[in-house]
Amino acid sequence: GKRDHSTVMHACKKIENEILGAIESDYIKTYVQPKVDMRSGKIVGGEALVRWLHPADGFIYPDKFIPVLEKSGYILDVDKHIWKSICMFLGSRKENNKPIVPISVNVSRMHVYHGTFTKYLCRLVEKFNISPEYIPLEVTESAFTEKEWDLYKKMHYLQRKGFRVSMDDFGSGYSSLNMLKDENVDEVKIDKKFIDTINDNNSRIVIRHVISMLRELGIDIIVEGVETKEQADFLMENGCFYAQGYLYYKPMPIDEFGELLEKQQK
Ligand code: C2E
Ligand code: CA
Ligand code: CA
Repeated sequence: GKRDHSTVMHACKKIENEILGAIESDYIKTYVQPKVDMRSGKIVGGEALVRWLHPADGFIYPDKFIPVLEKSGYILDVDKHIWKSICMFLGSRKENNKPIVPISVNVSRMHVYHGTFTKYLCRLVEKFNISPEYIPLEVTESAFTEKEWDLYKKMHYLQRKGFRVSMDDFGSGYSSLNMLKDENVDEVKIDKKFIDTINDNNSRIVIRHVISMLRELGIDIIVEGVETKEQADFLMENGCFYAQGYLYYKPMPIDEFGELLEKQQK
């Protein structure tokens, strides 16, 4: 009804009004979810995921505010803040001779429409003295179907600078098979929805062939949202060895992720 609508409007305005202050006041936190090699359980990387620690409302998850910020453009500020925190983290660990692994960051499709995020990323890795392959860029599959030309141009530029590009949420939306054929992504991240139905025979056929197609194309594969041992076993039997999911680890504060890396090294 009318009231619902105005409540939603109010919530959106509140998010828009508060986001820049929240970044400034360090309420926007970087969490990291480990990526593992399922064969050994070893951590081979991570993904940066944003959390809003709101002083009055508590923890806010990205699904609640990212869509709002994508409409208003503030997502650019949030992304840059997260990218910077990852570069600082990796840079300082490197300086202190602590082990590091690549930590991928999300790149909202809004960056393709606005500004010069490519230059920003290049400056960041330079400033913190880290090699670009330590910050893989996750771009959601659906971004590849709009404004493709701009996206490809920016993607290629970043790849030439040494960044890796990962196609996120693969299989969740429109088909991106053409894109795989014509353009170079370094990695495909298979969406959780794809493996949720792993008990269904048709799904198994599709997953098996998607994995084999990607392997033949020479594209790295990681599967997101692995929650059960059955899923992990099925994936490994079919030649996919990298995963990110609750079966292994949930997202955690970045400092905890650092401690985990130290433990693993021993
Ligand atoms: P995403 O990029 O697809 O990130 C993966 C999401 O799946 C994360 O949700 C993660 O916590 C969740 N996940 C991982 N493993 C499992 C599992 O085994 N089971 C279940 N049920 N969920 C799992 P999260 O952190 O809530 O993020 C949601 C979305 O918000 C992300 O989806 C991404 O699209 C967006 N997002 C998060 N952080 C950022 C950011 O810094 N910038 C931008 N632009 N978007 C972000
Ligand atoms: Ca992602
Ligand atoms: Ca995803």
